[in-house]
Amino acid sequence: MSRLLVIGCGGVAQVAIQKCCQNSETFTELMIASRTEEKCIALKEKIEKSGSPVKLSTAKVDADSKEELVKLINSYKPDAVLNVALPYQDLTIMDACLECKVDYIDTANYEPEDTDDPEWRKIYEARCKEKGFTAYFDYSWQWAYQQRFEEAGLTALLGTGFDPGVTSVFTAYAAKHYFDEIDTIDILDCNGGDHGYPFATNFNPEINLREVSANGSYMENGKWVETEPMEIKRVYDFPGVGQKDMYLLHHEEIEALGRNFPGVKRIRFFMTFGQSYLTHMKCLENVGMLSTSPIMFEGREIVPIQFLKALLPDPASLGPRTVGKTNIGCIFTGRKDGKERKIYIYNVCDHQECYKELGSQAISYTTGVPAMIGTALVVKGLWKKPGVFTTDEFDPDPYMDMLNQYGLPWVVDENPVLVD
Ligand code: NDP
Repeated sequence: MSRLLVIGCGGVAQVAIQKCCQNSETFTELMIASRTEEKCIALKEKIEKSGSPVKLSTAKVDADSKEELVKLINSYKPDAVLNVALPYQDLTIMDACLECKVDYIDTANYEPEDTDDPEWRKIYEARCKEKGFTAYFDYSWQWAYQQRFEEAGLTALLGTGFDPGVTSVFTAYAAKHYFDEIDTIDILDCNGGDHGYPFATNFNPEINLREVSANGSYMENGKWVETEPMEIKRVYDFPGVGQKDMYLLHHEEIEALGRNFPGVKRIRFFMTFGQSYLTHMKCLENVGMLSTSPIMFEGREIVPIQFLKALLPDPASLGPRTVGKTNIGCIFTGRKDGKERKIYIYNVCDHQECYKELGSQAISYTTGVPAMIGTALVVKGLWKKPGVFTTDEFDPDPYMDMLNQYGLPWVVDENPVLVD
């Protein structure tokens, strides 16, 4: 029995909300609040037609405004807030949750919308020097809320999507059941889906293109090693998908796993990209279309990457056209009872199956399902403790059970091919 406020109604939110409605024993009342209320109303009507017993309502909110959020949270009085808007809104939503004394859950760590903001840049440049990686996003902003959430007796669960999210739960599960010591973790994210467009992104284009055009990095013996974008390439034969090129990227769970599993010697993240995607991205980057700095165009200011977003297909619309499968998982090496061990925990998800079930493609599905699971565990009290946490800091078993139950079954391969 709980009352949930979901902020955002994009690709990921639409899956998370429909999955909450499948778990109506836990979520009895749910409000969908976003910038464009029409999308919330359309989703509410779709779910109501399906006969769900969950009591739904909608609202319009600007999640960049703490005042608007506080007003909404105080009037709806939810038990928790699930933030599936954009990472730009993480801090305002956390502030509002603290003020209204409700738990907070999200799927991606904070990054600023305006990377030219001089105050933010000063802190960012100091962090680049201190830590040794240059990605715009990092956990420091949200970890800084630790004491305030602890003192308020509230839980903030960060990054409960697939990666981060499930990949961190896989790590906690491997550490609990398969290893005494983990030496290496390779996180492999493969999208073998084809949407038929020459170029489109599978989730928010602005966030996605910022992530993949940035320098790569990995952690070795507790230190960051940074690479040029797409500098390290490997080929891997993914179960359920086949052979794909994959590239080393910086990714947010490396930071949390490096902190919470300090004995692990190397943590890397690889994502698959086809040549056409990379060629388009490079071309757009070369002409300045990935820039986040505003320019003047015909008398008004525009941000090139936001203009590009308006031209690209909406990720939420890719569902009907995307065929093929994703495979996301982690390869671990280490020791158990004095013996060397390697395992690969992964999930294979089919784009068309996701579309048949919920009307969305597998990238939104594989993020929205874990968003619901993390939220359910917090509101049921199984993952509730005061402070700010990532998903590797709780008992992984109930989460792993719910992945099987809610559409993301996983496999443990005890003899995988390693990545060199
Ligand atoms: P979309 O762009 O599809 O959806 C974002 C939603 O947030 C839209 O409904 C948008 O409103 C709303 N929104 C944006 N700004 C505001 C605002 N100021 N106030 C209120 N609502 C706002 O994004 P996705 O669904 O693809 O991604 C959602 C989140 O999931 C992102 O944070 C992304 O980084 C994360 N993610 C995490 C993954 C993981 O594995 N951990 C993988 C993929 C995504 P409008 O409809 O008006 O545009």
